[in-house]
Amino acid sequence: MSDSPEDKAGYILERCADCDECRSMMTDVCPFFRELYRLFDEKQEKSPESKDLRRMVDLCNFCALCPCPEIRNGILDAKSSFIERDKMSPALKIIQNVEKWAGKMAGAPMLANLVLQGKVTSNLVKKAAGMHPDRDIPRIPRLDLDAWTRKQGITAASSGDSPGVALFAGCSARFFFPETGMAAAGVLQKNKVNVYYPEQNCCGMPVMLEGDRKLTLKMMEHNLENLTKILDAGHEIVCSCPTCGYMFRELLREKAYYSREYQEAAGADDAYILIPKDNRAPPMDQREHKGLLRMIYGSIFKDDGLFSVFPAMQRIRLAESVSDMGEYLLRLYKNGGLSADLAPVHKKAAYFPPCHLRKQGIGSPYMEILRLIPGLEIQEIKGSNLCCGMAGIMGFKQDFHHYSLEMGRPLMHKIQDMQPDILLCDCLSCRLQFRHSLSVSLAHPLEVLHESYRQFEDSPALNQ
Ligand code: SF4
Ligand code: SF4
Repeated sequence: MSDSPEDKAGYILERCADCDECRSMMTDVCPFFRELYRLFDEKQEKSPESKDLRRMVDLCNFCALCPCPEIRNGILDAKSSFIERDKMSPALKIIQNVEKWAGKMAGAPMLANLVLQGKVTSNLVKKAAGMHPDRDIPRIPRLDLDAWTRKQGITAASSGDSPGVALFAGCSARFFFPETGMAAAGVLQKNKVNVYYPEQNCCGMPVMLEGDRKLTLKMMEHNLENLTKILDAGHEIVCSCPTCGYMFRELLREKAYYSREYQEAAGADDAYILIPKDNRAPPMDQREHKGLLRMIYGSIFKDDGLFSVFPAMQRIRLAESVSDMGEYLLRLYKNGGLSADLAPVHKKAAYFPPCHLRKQGIGSPYMEILRLIPGLEIQEIKGSNLCCGMAGIMGFKQDFHHYSLEMGRPLMHKIQDMQPDILLCDCLSCRLQFRHSLSVSLAHPLEVLHESYRQFEDSPALNQ
């Protein structure tokens, strides 16, 4: 197969059309598959042009609801190849790097808000940046999370007997919703966890979605190096953002188990490729593997994904060590270490487990935690095909805005039917879409938990 972006996109088109499984399963929820089958049906009369194939791959927001990781990776590969050959627009090059532009705005929040929130100026910015005029650019807070943690003196692990817990908060919490990161730190401190906030970079998801392979790898290289040092020092890492967690725990190690290094460490022989049975595999000498016949699978199962330029064992170590914040708190609870000093919250809440959390295969840990809050009536929004459709900056883009809203519509209808007082979700990108589509109070589960702890402390009646 040639390496042209058209051939890569065309190959996916053929494979999915041959299989046809997603025609009935995904076309209701995914604009990519709708376009793919439309192009395939049309192909009987005319072959798709390069611009059609590019448009098709641009419609994937990597929500990961579809069944085949190989296909998703193929879509990303084709998208990146188009970008590498045809180049990205200068405006997109700027807005895809959220950490960079939002980080600069954080240095002068008042001025930034004057420009980004002013009717005339914001329209000019949106036009220049290729954003849809109906989208609201989030406000830049007075104090971003990086600055707040510096003020609190928690940017390094305090020396002491207990190992530290490094909080990885993600760009949306760092630059737009610092209250989420503050709540995460507050909840951990309330539970006597030695939390700190290390130097961190964007996880790379927004630039990966835009097909900027080079920048994605640069960001991951930096994070891999920093986070490995944290593990070497004996600390734990928790992610309060499910997308960062998905990136570090799932995408980073994809295919790493097929590497020669892992196969040697696991004691594989010439006959079988060994794959760990457990997603959160225990130490090597205790882990169980399933075997795949090397003769059949050897040429397919290779460590040749986007992140295979980094050492396989380092990727596996990091992926197996990072915890989602909800998962970490649930573990604390099950070990008897979670404080029950919770004041009542008399609200009817709905909780949406975001796509990138569902893909981590850890269930909905926040549901169990939130049920501990007295008075909180909590219901989970269930549905394996539900996605808000936002995908970070993709939802802001002029060309994708309409698809993004369409993708999120079934979820929004479901929420409207539930009529909650408050909608809880741990993904801040979803929060932007909820804000755009619904008029309901929004919060990260950690904010509710933190507030309940805080009110308990402030209430003399409870706190005796
Ligand atoms: S994504 Fe997988 S299951 Fe769906 S049509 Fe393509 S090959 Fe078939
Ligand atoms: S990752 Fe999501 S948007 Fe992309 S093809 Fe799969 S279901 Fe569609």
